[in-house]
Order: sequence, then C-alpha cells, then structure tokens
Amino acid sequence: MAIKSSHGQQIASSTGFFQKLASGVPGVLFTYWLSADGQSHHYPFVSNQVHSLLGVDSSILNQNADSVFSVIHPADAGEVVETIQQSALTLEPWRYRARLKLISGEYEWFEVHARPERQEDGSTVWYGQFHNIQHYKNLEQSLRESEAEFSFQAGFQKLIARLSSEFINLGFGTIDQCIDEVLKSIGEFFETDRAYLYSFSEEYRRMSNTHEWCREGVPSLIADQQQVPIADFHWWHQQIENMVAGNRVVFIEDVDKLPANASSEQAMLREQGVSSMFCVPIRVRGRVSGFFGVDSLRRRDWRQDQADLLIIVSGLLSGALERFRLEEELLNQSIRDPLTGLHNRRYLMPRLEEMLGRRDRRGEPFSLAMFDLDRFKAINDSIGHLGGDSILQRFAEILLHHVRPMDVVARFGGEEFIVVFSDVAGGDVRHLVERILNTVRLESFVFDGRPIPVTVSAGVADIGEFNDGSASPDALISMADHRLYLSKQAGRDCLTDSSGTFLEWSR
Ligand code: GH3
Ligand code: MG
Ligand code: MG
Repeated sequence: MAIKSSHGQQIASSTGFFQKLASGVPGVLFTYWLSADGQSHHYPFVSNQVHSLLGVDSSILNQNADSVFSVIHPADAGEVVETIQQSALTLEPWRYRARLKLISGEYEWFEVHARPERQEDGSTVWYGQFHNIQHYKNLEQSLRESEAEFSFQAGFQKLIARLSSEFINLGFGTIDQCIDEVLKSIGEFFETDRAYLYSFSEEYRRMSNTHEWCREGVPSLIADQQQVPIADFHWWHQQIENMVAGNRVVFIEDVDKLPANASSEQAMLREQGVSSMFCVPIRVRGRVSGFFGVDSLRRRDWRQDQADLLIIVSGLLSGALERFRLEEELLNQSIRDPLTGLHNRRYLMPRLEEMLGRRDRRGEPFSLAMFDLDRFKAINDSIGHLGGDSILQRFAEILLHHVRPMDVVARFGGEEFIVVFSDVAGGDVRHLVERILNTVRLESFVFDGRPIPVTVSAGVADIGEFNDGSASPDALISMADHRLYLSKQAGRDCLTDSSGTFLEWSR
C-alpha cells in the first residue's frame, strides 16, 4: 500500500509541464519521498526516460519506488539504502554510484545526485537526478589497465636491462649461472611455474633440457627430459619443424584444447601437470639450436604483448649463447693445436702451475710423460709431410684413448707430446706409458694403402721427485725431456723414469 505524500499532490497538477522540461535533460529527474518511519517510499515525480532505461512505468513509481530498488545490483543495494538513511538523518546531499539492471538485462553504472528537504510531517523529499556513467567507468577501467600495463612494461624493460648487463659482464658467474638467473627472473616476473631451455641434437632428432627453473613446490622435469626422441611425438615434431624452418613460436594456450593428432603430447603434458605453455626458438648463428619456454600449471590467458616480451627474452638468451660460443671457440683456437685438436703449450703451462699449487697445498700427486715419435724424419721422407700429419693425428687419438678426462694431453712441439697424469705416481705411470708404447708399436698405421711401422719413446718425471721446493713446470719438463733423450740413446721404443730405462719387450 502506498501513502500519497502532500508533496506528491502538489506536483501532480503540473506533471505534464515537468515531463516536457525533463525530456530535454540527459538522465532521469525525480523527486523521491520517504516516510518518517522509513517504511514507505515513492517517486512523486520521475521523468519518463526511466521507462526506456529500466522498463518501469513512471506511473507505477508514483505509487511505489520498490521496482527501482529491485533492479539495483545486489552488491550495491546495501550501500544505496545506507546512503539514503544517512542523507535523511543529516540532510546532506544524497549521492551514490550503483549498478542498475537495464531492460536488456545488463547492469550498468549510474550516479545519483539529490538534495533532501524535511517535510512538516517528518518525511523527507529528495530533488535530484540520476544518469548513466558506464562510459566513465569503462574509461576508468581501461585507464587502470593501461597503467598496470605501463608499469608491467617498465618493469620488464628494467629486468631485461639488468639481465643483459649481467650477461655482458658475466655478473652471475658462468654462462650457466647467468642462464639460470634469467630463467628464474623471467619465471617469477611472468608468474609462471617453470621456465626452461632445451637444446636440439645436430639433426633435430632429440632434445635435452639443459637449464630449468621451477617455482617452489613445482616438480622438476630436467632429469627425465634428456635425449628425448622428437619423432615419438608427431604433433610436436611438426611444431619443431615450424620453429626451425619458420622461426615460429609454439603456444599451447590450453592443453585440454590440443588437436586430436596431439593426443600423446596432451597425455605427457597432463602427466607433467602443464596447463598452458609457450616456447620460443633460440637461434645461434642463424640456426635454431634449441628453445626457451615457460609452463603454467593453471590455465592462463597470454596476452599478445606478453608473448612479444618472451620473444625478447629468447633474443637475449640467443645473443648470450652466441657470444659465449664464439668466446669458447676463440679460446679453444688459442689453446688447441689445429692439426690434432689436442691442447697446446699455452694451455699446458698454466695447468701445470695449477697442479703444482694443488700438490703443495693438498699433496695431490701427478706425473708427466714426454713422448717423441721415433725417426719421424724418415717417415716424412717416405710418405711425405701430409702422410706424416696423418700419423701425428692417429697418435694423438691413441694418447686420448689412454688417458682419463682430468689428465692433460698436449702437443708440445712438432712430433713431441706431453701427457700429465693427475693423481698418479711412480710405477703406475710407468705402466700407463708402457701401454701407450705397446699400442703404438702394435697399431697398423697405414698411409696410401701402405703399412707404416711407428714407434715412440718416452721420458717420465714424477712431481714427487722434487721435494726441496725446486719443483716448477720447467724443471719437471726438463727432467722428462732428459729421460726421453736417454730412451733415444737406449735404442728408442722405450721409456725412462726415475728407476731407469725399460726395454723389457722383445724387439
Ligand atoms: P728421433 O727418433 O731421434 O726423434 O728422430 P726424428 O726423425 O723424429 O728426429 P727429430 O725429432 O729431430 O725430427 C722431427 C721431425 O718431425 C722433423 C720434422 O720435419 C717433423 N715434423 C715436425 N712437425 C711436423 C708436422 O707437423 N708434420 C709433419 N708431417 N712432420 C713434422
Ligand atoms: Mg722424433
Ligand atoms: Mg723431436
């Protein structure tokens, strides 16, 4: 039941005039009446636009305001009632923003301004208007988004600047530490769960995970992702081909939506808990050598600009890897002998210094053997210099075959070689060297279809023979050189160490 206010009766007669006036004003003009006890309310006047907006007739609202209140968004309704009560109490202007349900069924934002006036009977009347402010809300929202976007971009630029300078100075230590740091920083920045680097084998047959960062609590995959045969996964194989041929990224927005021909990939990714992933090729010297990627365990929307940023990261990694490979190669060129691929004297000498230091500090033993091919001039004379070269290469292979990774094998001069045996002393070295001599003697060296008999002589020196502080790389080498000379004197194809020359094998 509606109670008709005296104010309502006053304006009823002039409604036609007011409606005409209000029709030219944007928004809805109204007077709103609330009884003193707050139990009944209506709109004595409300302009007809209210119908086209909310689908409610002004004549109904003249009786009861409920149908406007029922279209207020539930989340905003409480505050609307509160602000009315507040305004009625203080007689301060009533102002609020709330979402109203339009005829279309959608909610849009409206703003209400009204000035209250207390009536003699204790009721309150507000004179005011409300209008649609959705447009401003949209603007506000896009402003907020572009602000967030701007600070994201700025943060990214700062991050990339920091990472590239670390790469240039190798500020994190080795290239591997640098890559690990990049993966961690990028993984955290993009709020992913895993960030990783893979490298392809020469023919793109296999791929191996070389570096990985995982968010805390996310299981690591690197141990299982070694030498993975790419051909086992047809769809993935296709993606890799696109990556290699077209430098294209692989983007899986939702693992659940992978095509039917990717069912094995889908099963694997699900097993890994991956929901979305993004992989960008890494190019080193114009060739795709692997890819950089991020996994997300929950579904997420990758924006195009974020994808572009990941491409920048892969560019950074590519550049760093390329520079690193180049440096490694230059370094290799300067410390390796081009004919045999063995290390050279420039590499050997500092290594000997290091080993000497470790012997002094920690007592780690080591020994050195110098080898010189026997009558090599004659070999050159018989099969030519190129033939001689091939013998040197084969001999280098034999040496490498007989040593362990921590030993040093160097071409010291023309047909002179040095092997440094770490952690070995005395009779053990003799046996190792004997084995090399025997292998060379028994090996069928062939050039141009002709068998070439080859033997080698050696001199061995043990760092343990220097106890008076006189040890030095040069002293050790001279001792081995002198013993090599003794071996030559003894007839070649033999070795000499601290206990003498060994010629046991029958010639
Ligand atoms: P010995 O048994 O006393 O060592 O006799 P040798 O003929 O090996 O004597 P020497 O050590 O004096 O001669 C080394 C020869 O090795 C001389 C040189 O022409 C040859 N030589 C040095 N470097 C190379 C190389 O890079 N390639 C070839 N093919 N020969 C080389
Ligand atoms: Mg020689
Ligand atoms: Mg020589």
